[in-house]
Amino acid sequence: MKKIIIAIDGYSSSGKSTMARDLARKIGYVYVDSGAMYRAVTLYALRHGMAADGKVDTEALIKDLPEIRISFLPAGEDGVQHTLLNGEDVEREIRTMEVSGMVSPVAVIPEVRHRLVDLQREFGKERGIVMDGRDIGTTVFPDAEMKVFVDASPEVRADRRVKELREKGEDVDYDAVLNNIRERDYIDTHREESPLAKAPDAHVLDNDNMTIPEQMEWLMNLYNEVIRL
Ligand code: C5P
Repeated sequence: MKKIIIAIDGYSSSGKSTMARDLARKIGYVYVDSGAMYRAVTLYALRHGMAADGKVDTEALIKDLPEIRISFLPAGEDGVQHTLLNGEDVEREIRTMEVSGMVSPVAVIPEVRHRLVDLQREFGKERGIVMDGRDIGTTVFPDAEMKVFVDASPEVRADRRVKELREKGEDVDYDAVLNNIRERDYIDTHREESPLAKAPDAHVLDNDNMTIPEQMEWLMNLYNEVIRL
């Protein structure tokens, strides 16, 4: 069967990662979480004193870019793919509110984007990949055979995110999470370099009122349609 590229873009905490991961598992594709890559660079910047209070020392970070290696460990027993920063498993640390609060300002830096987009394209060379992010269908793989744009209201996304963080034992405040989501939406859609946008040929999935099995059915129908063409 022919192997394709599946690009899943959308707003923060819209559930894209879960559906992209489940879809990849179901059809035997590689899953790549591009947001995790921006998060890993952000963690590097935080650890090296290059980011604080919403501000990034852009020059220092650009200088260090060649030192930042990002890779993934395939999903193990926990079903979660782990992100490695210079060989260290940082999967847990990149999901904290501290990193979430700084990631969008880091992701506006064109040099950071160029480097990560190159790496993302490398992952897609053989096709047979599901990648989720903000600019996958528009910039990383404009030729992807299947493009999905996921939408959900900020309140529903904040609810889901609070639940997820609390399940991981992080004590978070709903309003802080909602503000972070709104702030990231704004920065992600307004940045100059490859802003979050729906590709003209993307299929929109508004999942406010959908369960996970319903979303999967929607995705599988689309996938089956696309590979038949
Ligand atoms: O998907 P996730 O919420 O983990 O992504 C974290 C942040 O990384 C986003 O808010 C966005 O600023 C940035 N990002 C991006 N381009 C991507 C993926 C993520 O700018 N392709």
